[in-house]
Amino acid sequence: MDRYISGSDNPIVFLTLQKDYGEECDTGAQGFRKTFAIQRCGGKPHEVALRFAGCCLQCGPCFASEYAWLSRFRRNRRVISLSLKDYTRCINDYKNIPYPAGCPHYNWLRILGGEPLLNDAYINFLFKILNEISRLDSKKFNNSIIIQTNGIYIGQGKTGTLRKGLEELYESNPQVKMCIEVSIKGTNEEEFELITRSHVRPKEEFNEFLQIFGWDLGAFSPAELYKFNLKVFYNLLDISKDLPNFKPTVIAGFGVNETYLLNGELSKNRITILFKNNRPIYHPDFWSDEFRELYNNFIHYSIKTFGFSKMPMYGIKDDVNTYPFARRALRQGKGIYGERWYDAKYAYERGGRNMQLESSFTDIRKHFFYIDNKIYYSTLTKF
Ligand code: SF4
Repeated sequence: MDRYISGSDNPIVFLTLQKDYGEECDTGAQGFRKTFAIQRCGGKPHEVALRFAGCCLQCGPCFASEYAWLSRFRRNRRVISLSLKDYTRCINDYKNIPYPAGCPHYNWLRILGGEPLLNDAYINFLFKILNEISRLDSKKFNNSIIIQTNGIYIGQGKTGTLRKGLEELYESNPQVKMCIEVSIKGTNEEEFELITRSHVRPKEEFNEFLQIFGWDLGAFSPAELYKFNLKVFYNLLDISKDLPNFKPTVIAGFGVNETYLLNGELSKNRITILFKNNRPIYHPDFWSDEFRELYNNFIHYSIKTFGFSKMPMYGIKDDVNTYPFARRALRQGKGIYGERWYDAKYAYERGGRNMQLESSFTDIRKHFFYIDNKIYYSTLTKF
């Protein structure tokens, strides 16, 4: 357990090791050994990815739960702990990634988790790496960086370290463009609680979180955490005013299933967490004033910035042929939410589909969209 002791004197970050995917980066290693690695996101020539471990939330359909949830990540053999000086391991992994065969660069660099902006130690570590590899060779990642976050830490107003990191990145290589994508977890407080399960956490977990990550998560009610989740977009917008290399964006996390978002009525499947009155989470009937305001402000901004006239949505991943890991997340969601987990297939087995609920999926698609990863992520850094 001592390898997990953190705090301001001994800042530690946790990374999730990854496999080398594909022949482009085949070092003969079978296991999970790399900090930076190539992931098959967006199609060839794929993406460069760096994946943090640990998170302040515990969303029910989280496909990264094994290395994100506090109750699980310490047991995961893929998780390593590093102090700031160990960042050179990441730099070496980055340098060792060969250029993709037949392509001038990879699609982009994606920083994901777990939660990559979990505290100042994480942000410092991350930007030390980003600044160094941007100086070394930003062409390899196409001068495009996307960070995916729930933003709970930044939403508390703790923006100083991030602002400094972004400013340094601009100074070290102004060609590099960065987008921070904030995943919103619900359209009202109750949905936030339902998705993140922030109301059912034992007190001991908060003590442990404080010890490991250095801030008091337990001091905040789920309603306050939700406020942070909504506020972070505005905090990031404020930072972006002085930085031409940086834009924030917002995405709705865990709405209805992805194959439905992509294909509409052509998708046979319908999966969602049931909110109430036979309506899925994110249904416009239940939007809080704060979420509605964020939605409208975001659309106004995103039409000009990215050309999006609806809010993007990450649905529940259900294309198990393309993403085999989705099977486990689907089982996990079903186990956690029980009767509130609606899957048309299971519903049929239980004796009938809920056609009233399924018809309301169209209301979600009127306000949210999901597109092919390659188009979506490329758009985020074309500003
Ligand atoms: S915020 Fe992301 S990483 Fe954290 S629990 Fe939710 S889905 Fe998982």
